[in-house]
Amino acid sequence: MAFFVVIVSISFYDNKKAFTYMKIFITKKIPQKGIDLLQSAGHEITIHESARPLSEKELIEASQQCNYVLNGGMQNFDAHFFENCPNLKALSLMSVGYDNVDISAATQHGIPVSNTPGILSGATADVAFLLMLAVSRKAFFNHKRILQGKWEGFDPTENLGIELNNKTLGIYGLGRIGFELARKARAAYNMEIIYYNRSRNKEAERVLGAKYVHFDELLRRSDVLSIHAALTAETKSRFDKNAFARMKNSAILVNTARGGLVNEFDLTAALQAGELWGAGLDVTNPEPMRPDNPLLGMDNVCILPHIGSATVETRDNMALMAANNLLAAIRGEKMPQIINEKVYQ
Ligand code: NAP
Repeated sequence: MAFFVVIVSISFYDNKKAFTYMKIFITKKIPQKGIDLLQSAGHEITIHESARPLSEKELIEASQQCNYVLNGGMQNFDAHFFENCPNLKALSLMSVGYDNVDISAATQHGIPVSNTPGILSGATADVAFLLMLAVSRKAFFNHKRILQGKWEGFDPTENLGIELNNKTLGIYGLGRIGFELARKARAAYNMEIIYYNRSRNKEAERVLGAKYVHFDELLRRSDVLSIHAALTAETKSRFDKNAFARMKNSAILVNTARGGLVNEFDLTAALQAGELWGAGLDVTNPEPMRPDNPLLGMDNVCILPHIGSATVETRDNMALMAANNLLAAIRGEKMPQIINEKVYQ
């Protein structure tokens, strides 16, 4: 049973014409700043307050009652959703990733979809940096040892990490977040930056001295390999046993993009076989990760529960950007962060 909170603002009249308020459905509680902005524009807002994701049926039923949807969670919007929501006018995502939305189905149904790019790059790159450093020093494992009463004293040969100074950081998908990580890694550890994209990132080459390499070279040369490409049919399970076999045994794999880019079964086997030094994951497949997943028990693995953009500042800005996108659609304007530009043609 879904639990919704409905906030009805009083619709108002300006001097000349009646104001028509719109019905907005928010799929998960978002920072209050975003809600306040929508409310101050006088619209009726329904919020799914529970931590539990909506079932497909609940999502469709709630969205059918509304004209505009703001997605604050990890809901899926597939072709079936768009077919069954004829009153829907726009979908605003409070995320930069949109692998959970069938964009071509949205476009076919004339639904503009927007996201929140850029404003979360610094916070997400911080988490990639945190994982890179935490894995290199086995930080989570050592913390667990204290909790388990296994800290018996100083030992000059146990629990040694590896340093990052002057090492090579390989970035798979050097876009906004990859750029921020590369900038931090160069400044902190003078790391050499190599990257693989489908097209060259000239700004990263100019500003950071990043070098474009082919995928195979990225695998072979990276001391730390950080994944930042979107999850698509092309990138799905790109990091599998074949990829791990080509990486250095001393390499660290970091994934803050989407769990689906990594074959977790193969990653577990590669770590058990000592083919990699370790792995840091902010995203898993599936999410949430089961507490009995063998990766959680490994001394060279650090896992976080998808907290890339989870800072007060970033989440406030994401909520405001998502609300502003929706308000633009309600005014009949182009959504500023539109994904499916074609919908306006
Ligand atoms: P972005 O600026 O679009 O960067 C993505 C990069 O990936 C682009 O440079 C793109 O370059 C490259 N790319 C795309 N397809 C590729 C392919 N097949 N092979 C190699 N490179 C490819 O996106 P962003 O803002 O940095 O965000 C990246 C992803 O991070 C998002 O899609 C999202 O899934 C994830 N994310 C996670 C969190 C979190 O909480 N952990 C937070 C925010 C974002 P080309 O087009 O030239 O290939």
